[in-house]
Amino acid sequence: MSALQKLSGIVIHRRRLGEGDVLVQILLPSGETIDVRAFGLLESRRRSLLFAEPASLVEAEVYTQEGKAALKEGRVIRSLYQGRSYQDLVRTAYILETAGLAARAGAGPDVYRLLEGALESNPADLLLLGFVLIRVQKLLGILGFMEHCMKCQSALSDAVYWSPLETLILCARCDERASRRDLRLVRAIHLGLSRRFGFYKEEPLICSMTDSERLHLFWQLQRSLEQFLGHPLRSAKQLAAVYPLPAHF
Ligand SMILES: [Zn+2]
Repeated sequence: MSALQKLSGIVIHRRRLGEGDVLVQILLPSGETIDVRAFGLLESRRRSLLFAEPASLVEAEVYTQEGKAALKEGRVIRSLYQGRSYQDLVRTAYILETAGLAARAGAGPDVYRLLEGALESNPADLLLLGFVLIRVQKLLGILGFMEHCMKCQSALSDAVYWSPLETLILCARCDERASRRDLRLVRAIHLGLSRRFGFYKEEPLICSMTDSERLHLFWQLQRSLEQFLGHPLRSAKQLAAVYPLPAHF
């Protein structure tokens, strides 16, 4: 027996299947994802392909059976994509993939609000992408409080050693690799954990970050997320062409 279910959510991915079908992955406000098969969507004159467009806010009626969902009716409420350039497309693809993977890894309902907010923040830039990564890592439990040395518990002051791959933060007394550069990055992450994006980007520390610091922070967080998820993000490759990794990275 199949059941009819109503849902709304944000399209995060689409994939063409044989016979003109499209598999549409939708992030639901509950933080879960659902794969909906739209039979014959590519050849349909009646139904719009916009329904399968990534970043569309949609509502649908679907038949579900044994964990599979097939589209009965669907409509686009509005598109959350506001980009105009190839770079915008690449950044949006990255945000959508990150949110989808985080949802599947159990980030919970907040990942939906994070994605919605990120798509509505126009234009998306490196600062926003870094902020999304900070929040996603918080939701997944990768990043916790970043105010104390993880070894001796003393408050972080002049310099720290930050290793995103080991999720390690140590003070200058506990690790001789401690630097002021890492301290600034750790402070930036701390602000991202506790501030809304609108306030985060106005913080003096964030405003004072150089392009190279922003790149460094983003790619460090990106690497640690990939390590946590256990596989590379498809969209990160195109993103690396838009935001080349710093040479010393
Ligand atoms: Zn210490």
